[in-house]
Amino acid sequence: MTKDSMLQTLKTYFGYTQFRPLQEEIITSILHKEDTLVLMPTGGGKSICFQLPALMTEGTAIVISPLISLMKDQVEALQANGVPAYALNSANDETTNVLLKQECLRGKVKLLYISPERLLSEINFLLRDIRISLFAIDEAHCISQWGHDFRPEYTQLKSLREAFPQVPIVALTATADKITREDIIRQLDMRNPKTFISSFDRPNLSLEVKRGFQQKEKIRTVTNFILRHRGESGIIYCMSRNGTEKVAELLRKEGFNAAVYHAGLSNAQREKAQDDFINDRVQIVCATVAFGMGIDKSNVRWVIHYNLPKSIESFYQEIGRAGRDGLPGETLLFYSFSDIVTLTKFAESSAQQEINKEKLERMKQYAETDICRRRILLNYFGEMMDHDCGNCDVCRNPPERFDGTIIVQKALSAIMRTDQHVGIRTLIDILKGSLSQEVASKSYQNLKTFGAGRDVPARDWQDYLLQMLNLGYFEVTYNENNRLKITEAGRRVLFGHERAQLVVIKREEHAKKVSDKKKASKTDAAQLFAAPSPDMSYDELLFEELRKVRKQLADRQAIPPYIVLSDKTLKQLCAQKPTTLEEFGEISGIGEFKKAHYGKDFTEAIRMFLKKGAS
Ligand code: ADP
Ligand code: ZN
Repeated sequence: MTKDSMLQTLKTYFGYTQFRPLQEEIITSILHKEDTLVLMPTGGGKSICFQLPALMTEGTAIVISPLISLMKDQVEALQANGVPAYALNSANDETTNVLLKQECLRGKVKLLYISPERLLSEINFLLRDIRISLFAIDEAHCISQWGHDFRPEYTQLKSLREAFPQVPIVALTATADKITREDIIRQLDMRNPKTFISSFDRPNLSLEVKRGFQQKEKIRTVTNFILRHRGESGIIYCMSRNGTEKVAELLRKEGFNAAVYHAGLSNAQREKAQDDFINDRVQIVCATVAFGMGIDKSNVRWVIHYNLPKSIESFYQEIGRAGRDGLPGETLLFYSFSDIVTLTKFAESSAQQEINKEKLERMKQYAETDICRRRILLNYFGEMMDHDCGNCDVCRNPPERFDGTIIVQKALSAIMRTDQHVGIRTLIDILKGSLSQEVASKSYQNLKTFGAGRDVPARDWQDYLLQMLNLGYFEVTYNENNRLKITEAGRRVLFGHERAQLVVIKREEHAKKVSDKKKASKTDAAQLFAAPSPDMSYDELLFEELRKVRKQLADRQAIPPYIVLSDKTLKQLCAQKPTTLEEFGEISGIGEFKKAHYGKDFTEAIRMFLKKGAS
């Protein structure tokens, strides 16, 4: 097989003219019938690594996948490219499955997706009678108890190697840690596997953290964020089921339509939320971590973490759902004092206490860092990065520090005068001089420090206290009502032996934007969100037109719009404005099948648009 024929197949079926890093090497290894292990981040382009060899080899590739929704997504995407791919699973009725098996026996199926349970029941029947080109084990980390998605059915895939010694096994995952990797190789009994580990960097995802925001400010920030992403899909991850409902409700009040997804809903409700999201019927989903693996939607443009995630692994996987098509994805993480309290309690009551506390600690370091955030992330995954990324908030706007000794002393002194009996909320009441119920009941209004921090806004106290916690000036006693206890380091500052450096809080710019947009969001947020606006450029207007065409084509075939054409391809159509089928076929992401099926509709729409613009 030459590189030319590989590139030819890539263009014919997928419409791409270049391989992404490592794809070519991986495909070559599989074509040489080597067992192959592929570690690539979400959105890295794993599927093509086994789909292309499947197309270039005689026989049927058997793809094992853990979720029906994942199979459906990949099968639809392949069929939309004219590839005979099907799924054998419990979502089909039995007649369909019987017909499908007949097609397999007649050698008409290039890729057969199958669940692990189904595979085992067919191992001595169907699989014996067809010519198998390769086995691809997708989401291969599901085999490992160390991973986060362990599936007992996956452990039985062991029998494949013995039953089919001649057929190459390809295992693919986005979970990179070493234990999982070794576990996959051992459990699948892979022979001298060629291992390919691609960079876990996703440079198209921007990173940003907001510290110490209260509910109201969070919602305002989220509203502005969404307005900037008019018409684009995104996910808001919340820590609790309750949180998802509340955020969705608050957004609805602002005029946005948001779906909710969590494990407490019925199957039907969850399916509907997922389906509406995938098919661009609803643009926002407020979800717990339960919303995830089944989402292969390539045009998720943003991810917000409304609360701090419990580990960097979870965080990275969740933000990884944005920007799979390679276009920019924007991410935002909120991080508050109460998140830390809740997560620490979770970690302390979990079975693997030490590990989980350590993971949370690393997550906090990420949130609190004043060096490039991407460096912290990649370093966590064992990858060295020798430059700053320029696409995180630290790179764009490096934190400035100031001598905050007096602020720290005010806070610590207030803690001291209560005999270290208060939690954060009451501490802020004391500093601000607000006579809350708790303050009154303990007569804290008589303390010398009552009102000593009046000059600092309460929301800034939230931020400073979080900084102080992370600087180690006090601890939270999670088993004693979250009271604050001053540490040795804290004492040194309190008694003037050391000075404290705090990060300057910058809010001016943000506050201004809020007031501008606020008006818009009150009157016509929903409208703004859905429709073209007067400040759109020519190409952006065309994008809206083509998006409508895409949606119609998608609805007609009952497939998601991003499967018809990705956002990236749509963007390129707007830039190139092809008006003939030939030109249309040149665009990246358009293979022979899409050219033949969609070319007419899109080029016609572009011609109309150009004519309208000229007249
Ligand atoms: P993963 O399974 O690793 O999360 P996918 O296989 O879904 O990633 O690929 C992510 C996106 O990248 C898809 O939209 C896919 O079509 C696109 N892609 C993959 N390979 C290439 C390539 N060589 N050139 C351009 N786009 C590609
Ligand atoms: Zn950076």
